[in-house]
Amino acid sequence: MPNSKNPLSPAGGYRGRFAPSPTGPLHPGSLVAALGSWLDARKNQGKWLLRIEDLDTPRCIPGVDQEIMRQLLACGLSWDEEPTWQSQQQERYQEALERLRALQTIYPCICSRQSIANTLEASGVTTARNQEIVYPATCRPATIPLNEVITHPATELIIEGSWRLALPPNCSIDFEDLALGKQHQDLNREVGDFVLRRRDGLFTYQLAVVVDDAEQGITHVVRGKDLLSNTARQIHLQKILGYPTPSYLHLPLVLDEDGEKLSKQTLATAIHTENEQQALNELRKAASYLGLRNLPDGKAVSIAEWLLAATQAWDRKIIFS
Ligand code: GLU
Repeated sequence: MPNSKNPLSPAGGYRGRFAPSPTGPLHPGSLVAALGSWLDARKNQGKWLLRIEDLDTPRCIPGVDQEIMRQLLACGLSWDEEPTWQSQQQERYQEALERLRALQTIYPCICSRQSIANTLEASGVTTARNQEIVYPATCRPATIPLNEVITHPATELIIEGSWRLALPPNCSIDFEDLALGKQHQDLNREVGDFVLRRRDGLFTYQLAVVVDDAEQGITHVVRGKDLLSNTARQIHLQKILGYPTPSYLHLPLVLDEDGEKLSKQTLATAIHTENEQQALNELRKAASYLGLRNLPDGKAVSIAEWLLAATQAWDRKIIFS
């Protein structure tokens, strides 16, 4: 569908992306996201961009970005424009933060994880493991405007803290996932005012991804289902910043024996792509998670032939079948 508001894709052509964090080489789970986003872009004659999400510098491993690129190319998953690195886009994020500040929708917060946990505990709120911690709005000024210097009442010192987005009341987001169908999230109840810049000065994933998706004219965000619960936040931010909202498609996750998502944090092992046969095996495994069946098997098939067959077979309706 033509997206007239999108400066970088005036003709409304499909623009997708793969956005790995260089915290470890590609593992079977991240290959599913890479392959699914690549196939969706190719099936729609679109462009597929590579963005290295290296903002969380303490977690990034030097050289892993190059390793991820080698793995992608070994799997035949080539990108269409110059790759980008989030670490090189700081001004963009700062500018977006300044705009939000001018709109009086953000406020500084001095809470630590521990003080938030204590506040929640004192008010009888329990948060299960893996569940979102809903910020109890401790630092949220009672009145807006917020763009004055905020002092901490206990110390009367001007404190450098994180910056949180002040959600308006009744902030519920509805969207249609291209594979999972209707989605709904009540941001006030399920998320609370969320952080856009951390107290250590790093911009958060939520802000950076929204700015980059808009700057790069992304029309389709295809990524793992583990990120589904972030989407409503991102749509809300897009609305405030006046950006178009792309289409979203969330893909199945690869789980370990304990039913946990395979991730770099769970020390998932890297995929093997040292030769074409190994890379093809990894692609075949990834394809099986995407509902793709009856693709050419055997050793005689090349990666290029296999990817062509996979592109022809790609169908959003069968991903979760
Ligand atoms: N950088 C994120 C990750 O590696 C992906 C972000 C996204 O696709 O929106 O999990």
